[in-house]
Amino acid sequence: MKRIIICLLLVVVLFTGCTTLDLDKKSSELSNYYIDLDLNYEDKTALLNEVVDYINNEDIVLKELRFHLYPNAFKSRELSVLPVNEFNLSKAYPNGFDPGYIEINSVSIDGKDVNFTLLNEESILQVPLINELYPTERVKIEIDASICIPNVKHRFGYGDDTLNLCNFYPIACVYENGGFVQDRYCSNGDPFYSEVANYNVEVTYDSVLKLGASGECVKSSESNGLTTNFYEAKVVRDFGLVFSKKFEVVEKTVDDVLFTYMYYDDVNVEENLQAMIDAVTTFNNLLGKYPYSTLTAVKCDFSYGGMEYPNLILISDDVENVHDYINVIVHETGHQWFYGIVGNNEVKEAWLDEGLTEYITALFYELNPNYERTYDEVVGNALSSYLLFLDVYEDVFGERFDTSMNRELTEFNSEPEYTYLIYVKGLLMLDNLRDIVGDSGFFLGLKNYYENNKYGIATTDHFISALENATNKNLEGIINSWLDGSVVIKN
Ligand SMILES: [Zn+2]
Repeated sequence: MKRIIICLLLVVVLFTGCTTLDLDKKSSELSNYYIDLDLNYEDKTALLNEVVDYINNEDIVLKELRFHLYPNAFKSRELSVLPVNEFNLSKAYPNGFDPGYIEINSVSIDGKDVNFTLLNEESILQVPLINELYPTERVKIEIDASICIPNVKHRFGYGDDTLNLCNFYPIACVYENGGFVQDRYCSNGDPFYSEVANYNVEVTYDSVLKLGASGECVKSSESNGLTTNFYEAKVVRDFGLVFSKKFEVVEKTVDDVLFTYMYYDDVNVEENLQAMIDAVTTFNNLLGKYPYSTLTAVKCDFSYGGMEYPNLILISDDVENVHDYINVIVHETGHQWFYGIVGNNEVKEAWLDEGLTEYITALFYELNPNYERTYDEVVGNALSSYLLFLDVYEDVFGERFDTSMNRELTEFNSEPEYTYLIYVKGLLMLDNLRDIVGDSGFFLGLKNYYENNKYGIATTDHFISALENATNKNLEGIINSWLDGSVVIKN
């Protein structure tokens, strides 16, 4: 049985209270998204007006910008990369395939229309700039678009109970290593990668609906059966919305954070809300304080367990077991730190957010014994299920299983392969590192990794150096051998 070193908790207290100032200072250096969305719930369509006040934070001159158009991944089953694989088709599309998309009507800069181009099966919007954009300069791009929401239980889609509008708007591609990163929406993992930005979102929708969203609702009005909400979210990596006619709502403010749980058909409401609060309290102490003023969890039509967005977590209504449901809440809350506040390329280095999040979920049970799961139990189950998976794979296919974790999402051959290597093996790797370096260095390393990379983008190298600096140990070899598959895991 392992124990956390209590003195680490004291360091966090020093940062408490600085978070609002932190966000204000950081927000002035970022791009701003001004989104105006009108949802037609009957037709499952929406009109979008988006102004991106884009800042060039690179050290080169930009002549164009590129944006992901994730909804177009749902346009046809004939595309070369798809968001739902063939094994999940009937679960995700219970009424058969239904197309969804975003159609770009116009793009303008300073009121002048520009000739935009759609690339890579309409997954990328390329916008030529009228004037070259020098480092630290800003440009305002206005995009008008029509959105069609598909009948699919996914991040972008609707089912019988909820309508999920996530990854629905054009979001700027990250520029790095001399080009824009344009990875496609795929069925493995969370294939997203973006920089933090500020969001001002005005959304109008049928008043029969209730809405859970990223950010803080700063104004709400109602007229002619339509509700308009204004949201502000500073220094976040994305913005998501989930609507439902069925939502019931519970709220609680703890330590200046408004926690909201929006649900239907739930007999465990107070416990679920409390799990989200306990998770934030635990990760505040373990890593650094949650810097935002809201966190909302929504129960929803979603075929994949759960999903994280800044200030917003989605929990699938397919998760029936109350303990598993809480586990999803804790895991998705953990992503607020790893993916949300500390970003990473989720396509290239999925272990970095999923492995860390799965591991801090195990730590949640260690630190909260009232949740009736122990750390040793979680790690023990991970080890035995991983070894069983390997055995079964090698028996069935008669070949050695490729246990490398440092692959792109599309390079995993199946969802189980992705899950066992990224989540399960990721957790086992972090447990092993903790054994090697000892508790005090390990927890200091986690805290340093968070503090050094918050609001930025981290890579495996950042993780290695945070842990090495905290422990004075050379860990590159062992971490890389876990990632490249050369470590042999035994019972
Ligand atoms: Zn996750």
